[in-house]
Amino acid sequence: MSRVNTRLTPTIDLDAAGKRNGFVRLPWSSHESAYGGPMIPICVVRGGRGPTVLAVAGNHGDEYEGQIALMRLIREIEPEEVAGRLIVLPAANFPAVLAGSRVSPMDGGNLNRSFPGDPEGGPTSMIAHFVETELIARADAVIDLHSGGTSLHYLPSTIVARSADPGRDAANRAALEAFGTPYGFLVDLKESRVLIGAAERQGVVALNAELGGGAHVTPASVARTEGYLRNLLIHFGLVDRRPEDALSGAVRLMTISGPRYYVYAPEDGIFEPAVDLGDTVGEGDLAGLVHDP
Ligand code: CA
Repeated sequence: MSRVNTRLTPTIDLDAAGKRNGFVRLPWSSHESAYGGPMIPICVVRGGRGPTVLAVAGNHGDEYEGQIALMRLIREIEPEEVAGRLIVLPAANFPAVLAGSRVSPMDGGNLNRSFPGDPEGGPTSMIAHFVETELIARADAVIDLHSGGTSLHYLPSTIVARSADPGRDAANRAALEAFGTPYGFLVDLKESRVLIGAAERQGVVALNAELGGGAHVTPASVARTEGYLRNLLIHFGLVDRRPEDALSGAVRLMTISGPRYYVYAPEDGIFEPAVDLGDTVGEGDLAGLVHDP
């Protein structure tokens, strides 16, 4: 058990009404800054009565759609438009975001494998502990905006945990359908080190979106991300539907049930895929070729 609460301190009141931009200070004494440390940006927008939604991006630093969409949301949204509270953490693993890297250059930490974290651990573990105990614990629902990053590419997809709690299981599924990516994955979250595992531990509805990949963004992938995010805020009653807001499309639900749902190359080389993302394949089909340079 941890002996202390979080060592991170927000520069803003997370609970008061109105709109506030600020930082969460991560104390980390280093050669460059003996009494300082990273300043993680945060925004809280609280209007009338309603639920609290936590929107996170930059959990991995090389996944950009969510970071861009949340920065834009912070600039545009006002408390008068919000029934409830929106907590926006657009660059959760801020050192990794600055480096454009999946993991933190401070400690090699992968934030999305660091929950529940430790207030007396390394920087990434301290961030995870703060996010779980101070932000997720305040929320009724959480959206964690990911993308494929450097090593992956996704069709727009949403991952939710199968919950042992039937009410939360149904609420996760309803939120996934409202968010509206064409694909949805139901996973058995034995790995509670991820953010949506932290949400499950805290009894909070949570989605993990996967919005593109290859460590780049396109105008279409950013626009899609903003549309999905808007759908979700409408679903939770945080904002009203505008005439220009698109309705959610149908979601194809799939399951990932263990290691045999993945294919790995046994050798190094140049990978040439034999199929496109979204194609239907069967056992024994050619997945691709690995060319030995
Ligand atoms: Ca990711």
